Amino acid sequence: SPSQDPPRIQRLDESVVNRIAAGEVIQRPVAAVKELVENSLDAGSTSIHVVIKDGGLKLIQVSDDGHGIRYDDLPILCERHTTSKLSAFEDLQSIKSMGFRGEALASMTYVAHVTVSTITSGQLHGYRVSYRDGVMEHEPKACAAVKGTQVTIENLFYNMIARRKTLQNSADDYPKIVDLLCRFAIHHKNVSFSCRKHGAGAADVHSVAMSTRLDAIRSVYGVSVARSLMKIEASDANPSTSVFEMDGFISDSSYTAKKTTMVLFINERLVECTALKRAIEIIYAATLPKASKPFIYMSLILPPEHVDVNVHPTKREVSLLNQEIIIEKIQSVIELKLGNLNESSTYQEQQ
Ligand code: ADP
Ligand code: MG
Repeated sequence: SPSQDPPRIQRLDESVVNRIAAGEVIQRPVAAVKELVENSLDAGSTSIHVVIKDGGLKLIQVSDDGHGIRYDDLPILCERHTTSKLSAFEDLQSIKSMGFRGEALASMTYVAHVTVSTITSGQLHGYRVSYRDGVMEHEPKACAAVKGTQVTIENLFYNMIARRKTLQNSADDYPKIVDLLCRFAIHHKNVSFSCRKHGAGAADVHSVAMSTRLDAIRSVYGVSVARSLMKIEASDANPSTSVFEMDGFISDSSYTAKKTTMVLFINERLVECTALKRAIEIIYAATLPKASKPFIYMSLILPPEHVDVNVHPTKREVSLLNQEIIIEKIQSVIELKLGNLNESSTYQEQQ
């Protein structure tokens, strides 16, 4: 009978494919902010300002003072897979930028209204242009600009009703966005960051370029957090076991929190590594049983071939080559540091 016939397979419309893909790359407002801030960092910015309205659903605006975008590149800026950061697959191995797939801006144009203003050095004025579904809506218009680029994302998920409703019904992304900027601000201590709600007088994150990491942490997370921190360092240069360099700060017993804060950068990328976080929590529980969950800032440098950066843009969780060895080494460094604390309660480690 005809009902036994299998359904016909059809090719999806390109616009449908692009919108589905875009919804995966940009799952929620904080993901858009992360992509935009990483673009600003990749552009060599020293100052990055973020403005958010309605948790990012109404407005996300990121302004930077980076190298800007060439006039000639504006027509393809928001096409899928257009990038200034990668040309050959082999280059992925040594890539220093956070972006490389040329998907972020394109994705945003499929699920929001995107406007870019930019100026390159030596120019008298900048250009402003809006994008929809990967293409420019009009010729770039001359505009006043000082330095860098401003990207404005409006009405995120306007064409994805279910996504928009879900996000509107849950707690908005603003706290997540603030948390994200705090993390970037302490790692990129030479960059000043701010984040505010649209129309608000005061910024909720405001960091200025700082000379030391501890100063940066103090300015973002506060005096009492900074006061509780101890410097940690570790390295292993034995190619037969692992090669890595680690430095960071961990809290002592005076720090109080119900949840672990772990700010982890691996090869300059903000990532998460649950195995490492758990391993450190275990050391805290064993060494300082009365202490709270820790605060950890850690920067790990590994040989690029030991980290797979070619993962999905939304996949922040990483796994590393020789992960067990690295984790054990870090555990023993932390154990030693906390053990020293235990030996004498009057002894205060300061750095
Ligand atoms: P990717 O970062 O992976 O290259 P994006 O879609 O995020 O892809 O950006 C596409 C290109 O647009 C980048 O390669 C870069 O050349 C340019 N670009 C994006 N944002 C900025 C910015 N804030 N300043 C300068 N150039 C930018
Ligand atoms: Mg990018």
